[in-house]
Amino acid sequence: MRNEILMEAESILKERHEKLNESVKVARQKLMDDATFSALSSALQKEIIENAKKEAYGEKVDRKKENKLNDELKAYLREKNIDLTEKFSCHLCNDNGYKDGKMCACLKKEISALLFKESNFGNLVSFDDAKKSAPKEYQKLYDKMKEWCHSDFKKNLIFIAGKTGVGKTYLASAIAKELMDLGRIVKLVTAFQMSRDFKEYRFSYNEEILNKYLSAEFLFIDDLGTETLYKNITVDLLFHVINERKNRKLCTILTSNLTLDEIYDRYDERIFSRIVDRTTSITLNLAGLDLRTKKK
Ligand SMILES: [Zn+2]
Repeated sequence: MRNEILMEAESILKERHEKLNESVKVARQKLMDDATFSALSSALQKEIIENAKKEAYGEKVDRKKENKLNDELKAYLREKNIDLTEKFSCHLCNDNGYKDGKMCACLKKEISALLFKESNFGNLVSFDDAKKSAPKEYQKLYDKMKEWCHSDFKKNLIFIAGKTGVGKTYLASAIAKELMDLGRIVKLVTAFQMSRDFKEYRFSYNEEILNKYLSAEFLFIDDLGTETLYKNITVDLLFHVINERKNRKLCTILTSNLTLDEIYDRYDERIFSRIVDRTTSITLNLAGLDLRTKKK
């Protein structure tokens, strides 16, 4: 994952946590000048330390006084209507962003949101909304792809083919939304943008450019076949990205106006064979159903 995006996502979580606990912070500051609170809390602190010492020496600990002071303190805060409990927006990681050394879904969600922001895509549509406006023939397909979003991703390449207007991008966007809601790291890009990025990478060797294609858990490339083919750049790097992602068991979702034969002709045998690999790919053909004419 690109460092700048990760750092930005982490600071979003941190800021959110601070905002959530602003009232606690203010309350704590006010209480610093409160004599009753100070007396109670320092007495409680003293008692806690005494008890901890006793416990360390293996002596019998009587917590009656400690509990009593604790109750008194709580009652006092209640009476003053002050809540000092720390609040968390994510209870899985306590707003840390990580749990058991792994990225928490809440952090991944922020990363996806940041990646989405730079992707130039319009609004994403949910499966439920997509199904509402889709023709009957598509319902099963939508259900199948929603199921895939919750699978173990043994099938890690989805190729959605079909002419303009049959709803390829619509389907891809529902898949992307479902995955993002599940807290997956999703990178969306148009083939046009991809081709430009590849060219920029070839001339700058800025690894960050290529990294975002290689590291996102899910990479969506929309409208494959509409991009400019730069000689010795686009096809080579596209193969590298698709192949490397397969090796890393990361998922790639492609939409295209091209048929598989046309993919073979435009790119090369290596790219074609990765796309049609039956054991790890799903190819969908939406041809024949023109959503735009159906809607009219
Ligand atoms: Zn979390």
